[in-house]
Amino acid sequence: MMAKYVYVFGADATEGSAEMRDLLGGKGANLADMARLGIPVPPGFTITTEVCAYYYAHGRQYPPELASQVEAALGVVEKATGRRFGDPENPLLVSIRSGARRSMPGMMETVLNVGLTEQTLRGLIAQTGNERFAYDAYRRLVMMYSDVVMEKGAGIEPAEGKGIRRILDARLAALKARRGYGSDVELTASDLKALVARFKKTVRERLGQPFPEDPWDQLWGAIGAVFASWMGKRAVEYRRIERIPDDWGTAVNVQAMVFGNMGDDSATGVAFTRNPATGENAFYGEYLINAQGEDVVAGIRTPAPLNAHSRNEQSRHLPTLEEVMPAAYRELVGIRDKLERRYRDMQDIEFTIERRKLYMLQCRTGKRTGVAAVRMAVDMLDEGLIDARTAVRRVDPLQLVELLLPRLDPQAESKATPIATGLPAGPGGAVGRAVFTAHDAVEWASRGEKVILVREETSPEDVDGMHKAQAVLTSKGGMTSHAALVARGWGKCCIVGCGDIEIGRDGRSFRARGGQVVKEGDWISLNGTSGRVYVGQLPLVPADPEGNPFYVRLMKLADGFRKLHVRTNADTPKDAAQAIAFGAEGIGLFRTEHMFYGEGSEEPLFLLRKVIMSSTEEERRRALDELFPYVKADVKATLAVMDGRPVTIRLLDPPLHEFVPHDRAKLARLAEELGITMPKLRKRVEALRETNPMLGHRGVRLGITYPEITEMQIRAIFEAAGELLASGKNPIPEVMIPVTSTVRELDHQKAIFDRVRDEVRSQLGLAELPCLFGTMIEIPRAALRGGDIAATAEFFSFGTNDLTQMTFGFSRDDIGGFLPDYLRSGILPADPFQTIDQDGVGELIALGIARGRATRPELEVGICGEHGGDPESVMFCHRVGMDYVSCSPFRVPIARLAAAHAALAGPEEEGN
Ligand code: ADP
Ligand code: MG
Ligand code: MG
Repeated sequence: MMAKYVYVFGADATEGSAEMRDLLGGKGANLADMARLGIPVPPGFTITTEVCAYYYAHGRQYPPELASQVEAALGVVEKATGRRFGDPENPLLVSIRSGARRSMPGMMETVLNVGLTEQTLRGLIAQTGNERFAYDAYRRLVMMYSDVVMEKGAGIEPAEGKGIRRILDARLAALKARRGYGSDVELTASDLKALVARFKKTVRERLGQPFPEDPWDQLWGAIGAVFASWMGKRAVEYRRIERIPDDWGTAVNVQAMVFGNMGDDSATGVAFTRNPATGENAFYGEYLINAQGEDVVAGIRTPAPLNAHSRNEQSRHLPTLEEVMPAAYRELVGIRDKLERRYRDMQDIEFTIERRKLYMLQCRTGKRTGVAAVRMAVDMLDEGLIDARTAVRRVDPLQLVELLLPRLDPQAESKATPIATGLPAGPGGAVGRAVFTAHDAVEWASRGEKVILVREETSPEDVDGMHKAQAVLTSKGGMTSHAALVARGWGKCCIVGCGDIEIGRDGRSFRARGGQVVKEGDWISLNGTSGRVYVGQLPLVPADPEGNPFYVRLMKLADGFRKLHVRTNADTPKDAAQAIAFGAEGIGLFRTEHMFYGEGSEEPLFLLRKVIMSSTEEERRRALDELFPYVKADVKATLAVMDGRPVTIRLLDPPLHEFVPHDRAKLARLAEELGITMPKLRKRVEALRETNPMLGHRGVRLGITYPEITEMQIRAIFEAAGELLASGKNPIPEVMIPVTSTVRELDHQKAIFDRVRDEVRSQLGLAELPCLFGTMIEIPRAALRGGDIAATAEFFSFGTNDLTQMTFGFSRDDIGGFLPDYLRSGILPADPFQTIDQDGVGELIALGIARGRATRPELEVGICGEHGGDPESVMFCHRVGMDYVSCSPFRVPIARLAAAHAALAGPEEEGN
């Protein structure tokens, strides 16, 4: 049987279906599906992703059967429309559109009005009696085709601002300015006719090729450009950020044109079946009368609102589609309902009205803010559209970041005066220094600067810069513009269509309506929820997710599904309280050394230094006695806050040299206190210096050399817990030994633990003093010897930062020199310090757990590295059977949701 490379849709001959997404791409599959649902879709056909794969496997050649299959499919479209491709009397025009398995907004280019030539143009005029329209279509074709096919498709990379599209756009703008026109619609037929002639001349001069006058050349040129664009720089960049595999490939959709630019009874628009910013169950969209294709998205004119709900600051005065074309609007509402019932999710749709007749051009699962995602999931559950499992799986754990991220301090904001207001396209607050090109955003951010990217509008070329910026601010474009769409997808603070600002001619500053000028590098603050822009750095405050009833409902559902417990890494009562508010069920890592850093650490740190600098055990014990009350108080405060929840307390971990003072005054005080001379002290400091401190005298090794240090800490823990217990509280401490490599080390420390427990118990007159004794597993040897280690340890906590460091032999502090190269060249798929290396480090973890549980079936197992808050790593922890993950307080909700996803077996299939 001959391979089938082309699938027709519409024209009562639809061959594809929604299930064929991998083969037809999201756009093609959904066009076919809509046609099957009886929704009006202009007929067309899809060239499959297999052709894309073939094309790249065969040196950019098509399969030999393709040409005849395309011709046959085009024949079906001709029959359905009653027009013929290339026919000078009655020409069929088509659009050529890309469409990958997953939508990549704005990444692949579309060419409209293909098939229009000097010859067929006459037919189009005769047919429609509308010369202005025909020339408008033609000038659009020349603009799009020369850019997408003749320049980008040919791999030409013009200098910044020298691209053919920019040049032609500038021509168009100049003509409008000369004529004094406010917008494109005022261009007359003769304006456009002259423009087309000049455009074609410019194209020939600039690109060294004439604009193709053969409709078939245009057709194949555009198809080839779509396939070529799959490996274009921007598409590759976007896939890298979104982790879309290169081998998926794109399909090509060829579709009969319908025209929204035929006059005042025609329009084009974009809509969302629900509000993508808030999640509210209300139809939301924008449209433009007498316009085509991307006019709405490109922000050429201020789009008008679909209905009253869609009105915003900029469009308040414009008539709604509901008012202007009530019949078409009603039909659109009907389609909206049909699509939501069909896909059970919010859809992003494109439509065109040609002489009052409505056509659907696309539908796909719509991007939404995190806030909206949560609300939609809960609403759709209540509406009976989806079940609880689906609701939980609908929200990507990382989308919660947005609900947990800071916003501008409302107090400070109420006192500040905004210099401008735009459309709130991506919520939250952001503070950064203004930069005006994507390139600068990337460069400044790489130097560690926080930047806000300010542009007139963004284009796909800007995605990398948008990604690196704290926020994006555009002076043009609506809620469905490129900037809004992309920022929404990433949960990034974004304000668009901010007509109150004007970007300077120098491209390095903007002027606000009130006259304030913001130059490159100046600080600005954005409120993406209200659309307000401020000069300077406004303070940011933490978000209040618990105040959002949809979030609370969703998290409750998630907690019902998950098997993993979620703890937090916290060292202070304040962090602990925050983590409890975010749903933490305990502390998985309490670092005792924290009390020696930061606020209030002066005195304990001084005492610790005394301990470190002591030269005899006696001297050291005296210093430890002085330090003891601080450690006890510190532990007790956190145990009290965590009442009834486990707190894993890790004994002193860092190499002692880290605590040695550097400045003279501090050294002098220490020398005086110890009653030794400065040279002698310096000698002791020198003796502590190590070549590889990370592999040196730290963790349990300190406790072996100085058992009195372990003893002091354990006594502090037992006394703190014992006193709380005696006062009727329920402390649940767990003592954790760091940097273990052999069970003998543990046995040594366990003897101290048992002895001190007995002493404190009888001292406080307590019958019981419950406390688990366990260890971190962060050295490969410890994982391998999990079997004998579990004979002593009652729990394992995988310290995946060190475990990764030691398994790879990568120094965490030195990876900057080579990791970027490893990622760029694909030697490593991801930074192993962010996402667990499941193959290597993961195997050690799985092995350690299996061996440990073989010895002690009830062994409690958790993870306390940074990975505990990374959704992919959480999934992994679930699969290997851990009891809990522990992460920073702010990541707790993300881990809870990820754990639920893990229990529900993987994320939901992405929409198109
Ligand atoms: P994207 O994937 O970037 O949304 P599309 O392929 O959907 O790109 O096309 C870009 C624009 O062209 C959209 O506004 C779409 O509605 C319009 N368009 C595409 N095909 C047609 C057509 N056959 N008739 C009219 N407009 C079309
Ligand atoms: Mg596009
Ligand atoms: Mg589209």
